[in-house]
Order: sequence, then C-alpha cells, then structure tokens
Amino acid sequence: MANGSLENDIEHVLIPTDELNGRLDEIAREIDRDYADKDVLVVGVLKGAIMVVADLTRRMTIPVTMDWMAVSSYGSGTKSSGVVRILKDLDSDLHGRHVLVIEDIIDSGLTLSWLVANLRSRGPESVEIATMLRKPDAAKVDVDVRYVGFDIPNEFVVGYGLDYDEKYRNLPYVGTLKAEVYSGR
Ligand code: 5GP
Ligand code: MG
Ligand code: MG
Repeated sequence: MANGSLENDIEHVLIPTDELNGRLDEIAREIDRDYADKDVLVVGVLKGAIMVVADLTRRMTIPVTMDWMAVSSYGSGTKSSGVVRILKDLDSDLHGRHVLVIEDIIDSGLTLSWLVANLRSRGPESVEIATMLRKPDAAKVDVDVRYVGFDIPNEFVVGYGLDYDEKYRNLPYVGTLKAEVYSGR
C-alpha cells in the first residue's frame, strides 16, 4: 500500500466530516459560555489533537492562548502501554491558569489521567478536558471529562488527527482500517 488513495484503506466511515463539524460548533459554544469570564490556556496533546485544536479554537470567540505537549503511550502499535513519557513539555507556566486540555481520543484513559495529575501538580487554577472521541468500553481508569465529541465503540480508528503508524492523520473523517492494512498485504 505504498501509493494510491488513503481512502482505499478505509473499512468504514464512523464519523463523517459534517458530523464532526456540527459537534465542534456545539462544543465551542459551550466552552465560550463556560469560559466567558476566564482566560483559557488550551493545551493540545500532540500529535493526534492538532485537528481538534485547530477546528475547535477557530470556532471559539473568547481569547485563547495555546500550548502543546507531546507524550508517548502507544509507540507504533495499537495498544496503550500505560507508561507515559513526556516528549515535549509546555512552554507556559501553569500557575493560576485555567487549563483546557484538548485530546483526540480517550481509550483506556491511562495517558490522560497521568497527564491531568501532572498538570495539576503545577499549580493551575483549574484543569478541564475536552476530547473529540471517547471509547467508554475501553476505560481502565475514570477520567472526569468536561466536553466529549462522540462516544465510539471499542475499535481502533484513524483519521482526523489519529494515526496508524503515523499515517491517516490527514483523513478529514474518522474511520476504521481494512484488516489487510494491519497485516501488510
Ligand atoms: P489511552 O491511554 O487513553 O488508552 O490512549 C491514549 C492515546 O492512544 C490517544 O491519545 C491516542 O493517541 C491513542 N489511541 C487510543 N485509541 C486509539 C485509536 O482508536 N486510534 C488511534 N489512531 N489512536 C488511539
Ligand atoms: Mg492523544
Ligand atoms: Mg498514535
């Protein structure tokens, strides 16, 4: 599968672009309301959350500052290891800030619960979470998530920022891959 269209590798489309956009509109309005009297620091979790951060913050009308963090939990496979490593830390001091962490997906919740504990230890005024996708059936730890785009079944998805082996992030929708993509045939 060296060349050709990404679309050829998709088994089925789980969330089409227009549904993503509709939900982003709704969540942006909620965030606008909730942070009307606060300065929000958006923390995007690289790399998966780039699309959500870009699309969600553009819909928000409140002033936003942005920062980025990169953590590793999956490697190139499809299972969470639970071992989290900071690959890139924030540039900002979180002291007294209202932090809104934006994630692509919450699967086991292990990465995010680790991340939230880490951020809370830096003295912010508040820490809330927004995620585009969540797999309720995969939860291993409880994470308190303020904004959820979609709850999805417990299957591996790609697109809209989410990769398999660093590919498929640029698909404008969320879908599943054909089995032969994993087996490399
Ligand atoms: P967790 O620690 O919640 O199990 O997983 C966190 C990270 O694993 C996510 O931020 C994401 O990068 C990756 N991940 C979890 N589920 C999926 C999935 O279905 N597809 C892709 N592409 N990545 C996933
Ligand atoms: Mg992520
Ligand atoms: Mg990944």
